[in-house]
Amino acid sequence: MTSQRTRERLVQRLVEQGIRDQAVLEVMRTTPRHLFLDEAMAHRAYEDTALPIGYQQTLSQPYIVARMTELLLEDGPCENVLEIGVGSGYQTAVLAQLVTQVYGVERIKALLDRARPRMRQLKLRNVQLRHSDGALGWADKGPFDGILSAAAPERIPQELLQQLAPNGRLVIPVGGQSQHLQVVRRSPEGFVTNIIEPVRFVPLRPGTVR
Ligand code: SAH
Repeated sequence: MTSQRTRERLVQRLVEQGIRDQAVLEVMRTTPRHLFLDEAMAHRAYEDTALPIGYQQTLSQPYIVARMTELLLEDGPCENVLEIGVGSGYQTAVLAQLVTQVYGVERIKALLDRARPRMRQLKLRNVQLRHSDGALGWADKGPFDGILSAAAPERIPQELLQQLAPNGRLVIPVGGQSQHLQVVRRSPEGFVTNIIEPVRFVPLRPGTVR
């Protein structure tokens, strides 16, 4: 189930679904998604579906991880990226292989405690993780060339827009019952929003839990 063939099939599906960025496809092919799941779920790691990681949260569907990463890198390489909603750490690991530095925040400490050793195991040394409310961003480490959120706010928090560098991009699901993936770019003329496609993410919740 974790074999090379299963992974190739997943990448083939991503291509069929319209993922074009070769660097993103290569990272999706080589990143061991099964390491981000409990043993009982690991055999499903290379299916193109979201999977439970406990605490009522899910590891995002590979297609959406690839799509959001592709959108983040569309205008060229990113140096420093803020990721909101680290969860299992899978999206974090994908990003870490494509940008210079990743700053990841997660509100559920238990999830973060599991994600940390995975970064070490994969020797991803350009990742810093923090237990905090991602709606506040991570001001000390900004401004960011890219911000990617795996949790959906009803409205985009001002802090995230403020922490975008000039020409920086925010990739984020927005909405309640009905959500859309949005890309907001900080252009010299102001913030420019593009609505990409309907999506389903867990809500961005306030505060932190132990
Ligand atoms: N990319 C992750 C997705 C996890 S689901 C993965 O593939 O595993 C989204 C995550 O966002 C959950 O872990 C949830 O706890 C987290 N989250 C929700 N609201 C948050 C907030 N305000 N700050 C930080 N993380 C948040």
